[in-house]
Amino acid sequence: MALYVHKYGGTSVGSLERIEAVAARVAEHRGAGHHVAVVVSAMSGETNRLQGLGFDLGGQAVPREMDVLLASGEQASAALTAMALIRRGVPAQSFLADQLPIRTDAAHTRARIEHIETASLFRAFEAGVVPVIAGFQGVAEDGAITTLGRGGSDTTAVALAAALEADECQIYTDVDGVYTTDPRVVATARRLERVTFEEMLEMASLGSKVLHPRSVEFAGKYGVPVRVLSSFEDGPGTLISLEEQEGMEQPMVSGIAFTRDEAKISVRAVPDVPGVASSILGPVSACGIEVDMIVQNLAHDGGRNDFTFTVKRGDYDRALAVVKEAAETLGAGPVVGDSKIVKVSVVGVGMRSHAGVATQMFAALAKENINIQMISTSEIKISVVLDEKYLELAVRTIHDTFGLERA
Ligand code: ASP
Ligand code: MG
Repeated sequence: MALYVHKYGGTSVGSLERIEAVAARVAEHRGAGHHVAVVVSAMSGETNRLQGLGFDLGGQAVPREMDVLLASGEQASAALTAMALIRRGVPAQSFLADQLPIRTDAAHTRARIEHIETASLFRAFEAGVVPVIAGFQGVAEDGAITTLGRGGSDTTAVALAAALEADECQIYTDVDGVYTTDPRVVATARRLERVTFEEMLEMASLGSKVLHPRSVEFAGKYGVPVRVLSSFEDGPGTLISLEEQEGMEQPMVSGIAFTRDEAKISVRAVPDVPGVASSILGPVSACGIEVDMIVQNLAHDGGRNDFTFTVKRGDYDRALAVVKEAAETLGAGPVVGDSKIVKVSVVGVGMRSHAGVATQMFAALAKENINIQMISTSEIKISVVLDEKYLELAVRTIHDTFGLERA
C-alpha cells in the first residue's frame, strides 16, 4: 500500500464535470488499496476574478484581507471535490488550512509554510476517509489566513507530501509532463521521463510554468519524488527526483527554457573605481526590482567600463529612470536600454561531466546568424540574451543541435 498526495490545478477542477473526473481518479487509486490525500486549487480563473475584485477596492493596501478573499477559491473547490467523492460512495472530507493546521509565517500574499500538522489526516486515512485539502492557503500564528503566492497550491501539495512522508506527490495538470522545451515553439519537443530537482528548478524559474518554483525547491530539500501528469489522459508523466535516485547516465542537455519578458539596461563609460556596481544596482533593488544577468566589460577608453544588466520587462521603465539618476551622480556616460530581448537557456546536470556544451550552443546560433548579446553560466545551465525576433529560431536550432526531439 502506498501513500500518494494528488494535486489538481485550476483547469483540472475547472468545472463540475472536471471535478467528477478528479473524483473518479481518486476513487480508482483508493480502490487499488492506496491512501490518497487530495490538494486542490481554485477553479480556473477564480483566483484572477477574486484578485480583480479585491484590487478594485484597494486590496493591495490590505494584504490580510486579500488573503481572506483569495483563499475562498480553494475553499469552494475543496468542498465540491469532497461532495463529488461522497456521491460516488467514497467517504471524503474537506480540510481548510486552519483546520489541519498548515502553519505559515505572516507574510500575507506570499507566506511560507513552516509546519503542517498531519494528525487529522492520518485519522482520516484510518477511518477510510479521503481528505481533500484546500491548497494555496495557510494560517499565521495569530490565526489570520495567509496565501502562498500565485500558483502556490503546488507548494501545499509538496509540503504535505513531505509531512506525510508520501511515496509520491502527483501533480495533475493540463499537460502530460515536463517537456524538453515548450511544444508550442518546437512541435517535436519530447516529454521527459525523468528530470532532477535541480534541472526542474532552473526550468521552472526560467519560465517553463509547469510547477511553482518554490514547490520544486521544497521537493528537493526534502527529497519528495514529484510526478507531473495530465488529469485529462492517462500516462506516466515526468518524474522529478534526486540525481542519485535516478542512477543512470545523464544526457548532456535535458531541456531548453526561455523567457520572453526580459529587458536590458546598459550604463556606458562607468568610472572604473570600487563601489560603482553597488551605486548602480543599489537603487534598483531598493525599488524592489529584481536584477538577473549582470555583465561588466572594460571599455577601450582607459579607466571606464560598460555595465549591463537585465530586469523583467514590466520593471524596465522604472529601472531605467532610477539608473539614469544613479549614472548622473556617478559621472558615467549615457544610459541605454532595450526592452525587446529574450533569454534562452540550456539546462542539464549532464553538463557537469560533458565539456563543450557552450561551444556547441554558440556554434548553432552562429550558423543561424543569431547575435548573442549577453551570456551567463552556472554549473548546469547556459543562458544567452538575444533579440526577441530570434526566439523561436534559436530554441528550435538548439533543440536540434542537442538531439532533443522525439524519436
Ligand atoms: N489558485 C491559486 C492561483 O491561481 C493557487 C494555485 O492555483 O496554485 O494562483
Ligand atoms: Mg498551477
